[in-house]
Amino acid sequence: MKVLRTPAQMGDAREQARHDRITVGLVPTMGYLHEGHNSLLKAAREQCDRVVMSLFVNPTQFRPGEDLSIYPRDEQRDLAIARAAGVDLIYAPDVDDVYPPGFATEVAVTGLTEVLCGSPGSRGPSHFTGVTTIVAKLLNTVDPDYAYFGQKDAQQATVIQRMAEDLDFRTRIVVLPTVRERDGLAMSSRNAYLTDEARERAAAIWKALLETESVYATSGLEAGLEAGRQELDRAGITPEYFEARYPGTLDPAEADSDEAILVAVAADVDGTRLIDNILIEPEKGKVNAT
Ligand code: AMP
Repeated sequence: MKVLRTPAQMGDAREQARHDRITVGLVPTMGYLHEGHNSLLKAAREQCDRVVMSLFVNPTQFRPGEDLSIYPRDEQRDLAIARAAGVDLIYAPDVDDVYPPGFATEVAVTGLTEVLCGSPGSRGPSHFTGVTTIVAKLLNTVDPDYAYFGQKDAQQATVIQRMAEDLDFRTRIVVLPTVRERDGLAMSSRNAYLTDEARERAAAIWKALLETESVYATSGLEAGLEAGRQELDRAGITPEYFEARYPGTLDPAEADSDEAILVAVAADVDGTRLIDNILIEPEKGKVNAT
């Protein structure tokens, strides 16, 4: 496994893969790897000849006052996990090589980035502009055949799919299911911030989403959302949002929808912002479904 530190080194490695006529898969990460990342690496390893994992805590997707300076980092541990997962190339550039002096470009997706985590009361659209700009750069530098993302960040995946389609990136965007802890909490590098007490309460987030799914099936959307919010309330968690949307457009879901709906939640648990979601298929969510 090679560690590449500059866009130029990555470009040379890509040129080599093109020369060898082999497929390349990219797994973008901010490091502090867990089983969620591992599932993406595994899929890439199965589907592609060469697996590239990027390791870059992207400053432009953090807002002032967010956790950029304390975001958990452990490169040696990440390299060991990546090696064990069969990664061929690590692309771990320095911030100054990604954003050199004079850097002045933003790649922004409108609409989709203005709801849920992008709404003014949440992280705002600028968070996603940070994400789409870095992902566009990674797709250009690595030029992968496939790039792998997690359903855990459902809105991010939708936004990236939109960007890749709108800007004619040739890379296929692959979105894979959320990997969870035993009690259902979605794995996240940020779970490391949780105290034992907060960690225990955080399991209510997935319980709330399951509750919404089950009540939705029998009693409809509003009752389902209400039941989910109550589950959070019982755990002392006030969500930043707890909403049902269509996964492709992120428009609000209608009460009598025949389509799959995404129920997404963001919540601050003892100072740590956690997000999660559940995709409810129509046959599961239909009132009086047989
Ligand atoms: P991050 O390092 O948090 O930026 O995440 C890198 C990639 O891993 C993103 O595509 C995330 O959606 C994905 N990911 C993070 N947590 C999980 C999880 N629990 N299950 C599946 N994918 C995940």
